[in-house]
This record gives sequence, C-alpha cells and structure tokens, in this order.
Amino acid sequence: MNWSELYWHRITPLHLLLWPASLLYIVFQTIRRYLYRRAILTAVKITVPVIVIDSITANNTEKSPILIWVINLLKSYGLRPAIIGRGYPDNYHRPMAVTNAGNARLTGDESLLLSNMLHQSCPIWIGYDRIEVAKALLQTHPECNVLVCNDGLQDLRLHRDTEVIVVNTNHVNFGNGLIMPAGPLRDRLSRLKNADAVLTAESRQQVPDVGRRARVFRFDLQEQKYVNLMQPILAANINELNEKRIYAIATETNAQRFVDNLKFLKAALTIKTFPAEHKFTQKDFELDNVQMILMPWEDAVKCLGINDARIWYPWQECQIEPGLREVILQRLREKFMDPKLLDILVCPLCKGPLIYKKDNQELICKPDRLAYSIRDGIPVMLEDEARAIPPEEDIK
Ligand code: ZN
Repeated sequence: MNWSELYWHRITPLHLLLWPASLLYIVFQTIRRYLYRRAILTAVKITVPVIVIDSITANNTEKSPILIWVINLLKSYGLRPAIIGRGYPDNYHRPMAVTNAGNARLTGDESLLLSNMLHQSCPIWIGYDRIEVAKALLQTHPECNVLVCNDGLQDLRLHRDTEVIVVNTNHVNFGNGLIMPAGPLRDRLSRLKNADAVLTAESRQQVPDVGRRARVFRFDLQEQKYVNLMQPILAANINELNEKRIYAIATETNAQRFVDNLKFLKAALTIKTFPAEHKFTQKDFELDNVQMILMPWEDAVKCLGINDARIWYPWQECQIEPGLREVILQRLREKFMDPKLLDILVCPLCKGPLIYKKDNQELICKPDRLAYSIRDGIPVMLEDEARAIPPEEDIK
C-alpha cells in the first residue's frame, strides 16, 4: 500500500477533522449541479460529441484499459476519436498535445501510457481547462469527430453526450467510503443516477442504486501480459518470460506493488529500486547479459526517451459487456442525425469540407473524389473504406 491507500483506508482523528470539509464539498457540488440543471449556469457544448469516462473514486487504476477499449470500439466503427483531459489533477498548463516524447512531469504518466498503448494513433491533449483543450485539439485535428474525456466527472461546465462512471466498491478502490478530502469518493453515490452507464468489475448486486437512467455493465481485466515499451504492439505472456534473463527496475513509489505483481514469475529476478523522484538516464540501463527489463508502467513511460528495446511493462486488457457498445453507439447515432454536425465533418485525407448526400447517406470530398458512407447512422471516416467516385459520376 502506498501512502494514499493507507490514508484512504482508515478513519483517524484527522479524517474526522476533515469531515466538515467533505460536507462543504458535497454542498458545493449539489448547488453547482442544481444551477446547471436549472440552466442558471450553462454547460459549454463542443461541436463534436463528448463521452466522459471517469471513476467515482480518486484512486482507480482500471480506467486506462477501459478508455483504450472505448477508443478501439470507436475506431472499429470508422469514427475518429481523440482523448482530452487534465492529465494530472493539479495541471495548470495551457492545452498541449501528449506525444511519446512527452515529459511525464508535464503530461502525467497516464497520458503517456495511453499515447504509448494507442501507438499514437489517436490524438491526446491535456491542459487545465478541458474546454480550451477540446477547442485546441479540434483546431489542430479537425478530422476528429468524437472526444473522449478521460476525467471531468465534476467538470459540469463541459457538456457531455454520454457519461460512463467506473465504480468499484471493493476494498482497494472504495477505501473508507468517505467523500473527499476525508475519503477517496469524488461525489455522492447518488451521482451514479445521472450517468448513462456504470461499469464495475464486481457483481451487479454490489453496485449501489443507479436509478432508472443508468445501465450497469461488467468489465473484466484479462490475464496479465507484458508490453514492449518501444513497440507496444509486441506482447509477451508470463511463460515466455520464464525463459529470459530478466532485470526489474522500479521507483520506491511503485516497487512494493510491482514486486507483488512479479511473484508468479519463475525466472530468477534482480530488482533494483530507485528513489521516488529519480530521473532515469541511459546509465541506469547499462546492463549486460539482460534480455528483458521489467518496469511498472508508471516508471516505464518515463523512459521512452531512453529508447531501450528491452523495457517491458505489465498490462491487463479489459473486456466489457457488449451492452456498453450499444449505449455509446446509440447516443452517437442520435447526435449524427443532426445535419449541423455532419456539416462540420471534414475529409480525413485533405481536411477539406464534405458535401452531405442524404439520399445515398454519403459524405463527398470533391477534390479527392471520395464518398464516405454513413453506415447505420455512423459516418465511416476511413479513406480505405471510402468509395472512389468514378470520373463519369457527377458531383454537385
Ligand atoms: Zn478530401
């Protein structure tokens, strides 16, 4: 357990002292929600649909696999998703793109992980103000037609079309069950009633009442594998590791959890621990006769610049009940019925405007002579799947 887990799992005199602050926080949130509901405060609508995916607790590490599942789902339907978020809670920076070359101190390690896992195929932007981030991202990437917000449960200023909340009431995530700052909960559990979908790794019976609007879906983390940092498309299972000469590196913050994680490994293992704020350099990796270097992902992503093909990190993919797919796609279909939204879509190839042909359910790029089809209400914005318009066909 790290300090935050230790803190959140107990009720001490300090927690009782903080309890009034938690109450104040609840009152503040309730008033804000009321003002937004009564349209006294208005949420900002981004031009493209926004899906918010966030956890009801502050220390949930299962959100990244869920986010990757959703991004891959959107991509498989021909959509062009992008990720926005704050990056890390106290980020006061202006909007910036996250790249593999990014500095974890600037972008937060989770953003770097997402960038690495998604092979940089989906733009990720972070910054203090999520609305500014969304606008800046769409200006640079006008081809993006759906934004996934990797936090922002309480950022009611950002209008969301779909809200997915991850809730795990197990001991690890739920802690002492108190609301911040006395506990890990970011809001009252009644907040789940406003969501479109609630995800849990536990049984449905353990999920608090979600009301009539939200639907509950289960997600399962798959068997652990190891992903290559420089080529995340490469993955190894635990049996493949047993035949290798392995060295493990971790900072103190992640070391204990990492050691627990590796205890199933039969191969002889040397673990080197570095101080929490250690800045890794090439020198730390001058290891002869080592085939694989294992690191927790939080530390591994800080070593992208070191370019060592031997670095791998443990990873668990997730599977989610298909019902979530329907919730997300249905909301997107409703959004894409709006001609105004179809109007702002651009050709992913030339980034130029498209002509909407309602009868054929196609979006036409005149300069490229390509017709992007709208399949079952979802525009398939993939140049490989677009219909090439023959020279004899007239484009008006
Ligand atoms: Zn074009």
